Amino acid sequence: MAAEKIVILTGAGISAESGLGTFRDEGGLWAQHRIEDVATPEGFARNPALVHSFYNARRVQAAEAAPNAAHEALARLQRDWPGEVVIVTQNVDGLHEKAGARAIHMHGELAGALCAACGQRWPAPMEMAPGTACPACTAPAGRPDIVWFGEIPYHMEIIAEHLQSCDLFASVGTSGQVYPAAGFVQEAAYSGAHTVELNLADSDISRAFDDHRIGPASEVVPAWVAELLASL
Ligand SMILES: [Zn+2]
Repeated sequence: MAAEKIVILTGAGISAESGLGTFRDEGGLWAQHRIEDVATPEGFARNPALVHSFYNARRVQAAEAAPNAAHEALARLQRDWPGEVVIVTQNVDGLHEKAGARAIHMHGELAGALCAACGQRWPAPMEMAPGTACPACTAPAGRPDIVWFGEIPYHMEIIAEHLQSCDLFASVGTSGQVYPAAGFVQEAAYSGAHTVELNLADSDISRAFDDHRIGPASEVVPAWVAELLASL
């Protein structure tokens, strides 16, 4: 038991209580825009100024946000659990790191800039603008290092290896609507892992999980982590 490997997928629901909205929320940043305008490569090609201003605003929001009790609990689990604890996040906000955890960012990070011409990455300034020059190739092709709809998520090979080798898989605050992340539970279960869903409400893929903890992330995640650490 003590050497069990745990993989935790986190989504927007874990950051909602830190004040960061998602594209499914009414009101807030996302509600003012269409997804195809601000979160697709085609939208960026059409209107880079709009896309940069949208992510500049999200970057400021994320910089001002603080991790909540759920982020803190996962950082505690990663620190105190004797086996490996891998956090894979769909979030781009950096709140896991602010809480002191390490996470694999499958959808990129607001803190990062990416050259669309050569693939170079560098720390994003708070304000990006169209024509931002790449520090490696000098092309005016800087864009947010965010995986947009229609693009392939990052680190999929290493994530698959973690899913196939874990004993316990947990999903925290994810809708189950965005693939490939929505398929992680089947991948982990197929490899023999016990699976737990922690979410505000049942999701589209709840039936795929062995166990469920329903409630706000800031309550159900610390309780679940305390249970795990008490089982040692
Ligand atoms: Zn470049």
